[in-house]
Amino acid sequence: ETEIVNTQALKKYYKLGNNTVKALDGVDFKVKEREFIAIIGKSGSGKSTLLHMIGGLDSPTAGKVFVGGRDLGEMDREQLAIFRRRNIGFVFQNYNLVPDLNVYENITLPVELDGTPVDREFVDEILRLLNLEEKREAMPNTLSGGQQQRVAIARAIASKPAIILADEPTGNLDTASGHDVLGLLRSVARQFQQTVVLITHDQDIAQLSDRIVHIEDGRIVRGSGNYAGK
Ligand code: ADP
Ligand code: ADP
Repeated sequence: ETEIVNTQALKKYYKLGNNTVKALDGVDFKVKEREFIAIIGKSGSGKSTLLHMIGGLDSPTAGKVFVGGRDLGEMDREQLAIFRRRNIGFVFQNYNLVPDLNVYENITLPVELDGTPVDREFVDEILRLLNLEEKREAMPNTLSGGQQQRVAIARAIASKPAIILADEPTGNLDTASGHDVLGLLRSVARQFQQTVVLITHDQDIAQLSDRIVHIEDGRIVRGSGNYAGK
């Protein structure tokens, strides 16, 4: 099976006092290996919740999530943490770099924490592809937003995950550097045969993907199940 992500009748409900918020209300969502896919929707439509479910960061109210053929619901907390570390790279809107570590140290930290030897040649290659060679020793607070996000992408890629989940990666960037960052993410993901699922509320950014899925009020309203890419 070439589907790397497969959700089935996925629901996530939150209880707020007497109210129930249906953040996801029956989502069947499939992603093929090496696809670069954008989930677009307004604030509050359920994008982050869906990404969190795929990343195993939170558990569903009902339904199933398969990543790489594995049923996340069958894993205990520790198995899930290991699975995540080995298979999924996260990129966030706010970069989440460690301020006391330089660029190289930020990028290699997750690999170090995993106890895996750092593949220095691979890290050098990533630095080159993301135009960060000159910034190797730089501290995060000396970098622009676009540079910080490129470091965050390098960090996500350094552990060689099959899938990268990006939560509004261009949300804090101006249009030009947002497009720049997304173009670089696309080319590195293609080079290393990684699948990318990104969420955005920005139509122009979504257009840079192979396929766009629209989400509204916790339901996929357009674009599901259609693999026809550019
Ligand atoms: P988006 O990422 O599209 O902005 P979210 O997935 O963050 O949407 O949220 C979907 C809905 O679920 C919203 O109504 C939001 O307020 C609600 N929600 C998200 N997380 C929680 C939570 N932890 N507790 C309660 N409600 C939540
Ligand atoms: P985003 O901008 O990515 O959609 P949000 O601002 O909706 O993020 O949510 C940020 C975090 O707060 C998420 O982890 C989400 O699950 C949580 N959250 C969102 N809405 C609520 C809510 N009404 N109550 C509690 N937590 C929420």
